[in-house]
Amino acid sequence: MNIERLKNGMGDVYEVEPNTGCWLWLMGVNNKGYANVCINGKSSKGHREMYVLSIASIPSGLCVCHSCDTPSCVNPRHLFVGTVRDNNRDCMLKGRHRYGNGGHGLGGVKGEKHWNAKLTNADVLEIQRLFTAGQLQKEIALSYGIAQPQVSRIVTGKERSVGR
Ligand SMILES: [Zn+2]
Repeated sequence: MNIERLKNGMGDVYEVEPNTGCWLWLMGVNNKGYANVCINGKSSKGHREMYVLSIASIPSGLCVCHSCDTPSCVNPRHLFVGTVRDNNRDCMLKGRHRYGNGGHGLGGVKGEKHWNAKLTNADVLEIQRLFTAGQLQKEIALSYGIAQPQVSRIVTGKERSVGR
């Protein structure tokens, strides 16, 4: 398996699922069900490589998500680059991940409806958690598509606080 075969149509390395349109990887998957591919001796994920080949490079810190929720699918039309936030939301929608419901009470609505409310209360809590865990503000800003000074205000509590 190499990058040339990925580029050259991939007809023999995936199978189209007629109902969903998914391109199911035939060449082996990892323990999480993601397409495994080996490029120049380095193992990588088939859906990420397909995204790069078909659509665009993946900005650092972002992940390639499946709109079809089929990890072994490599159909570029089912792939999108997501932020940590998209991924978390995706997981929440699909029930793979649970946030506590704190922050979604009475106090939360006001914050979310604020003029600057690009972020949900859950995002704010997650940003604070990531920062506490040692992630750089600029990385967090990139993941959430916001400016670094906004991250700074959130983690220092100068921006709206949640969870009361
Ligand atoms: Zn798919």
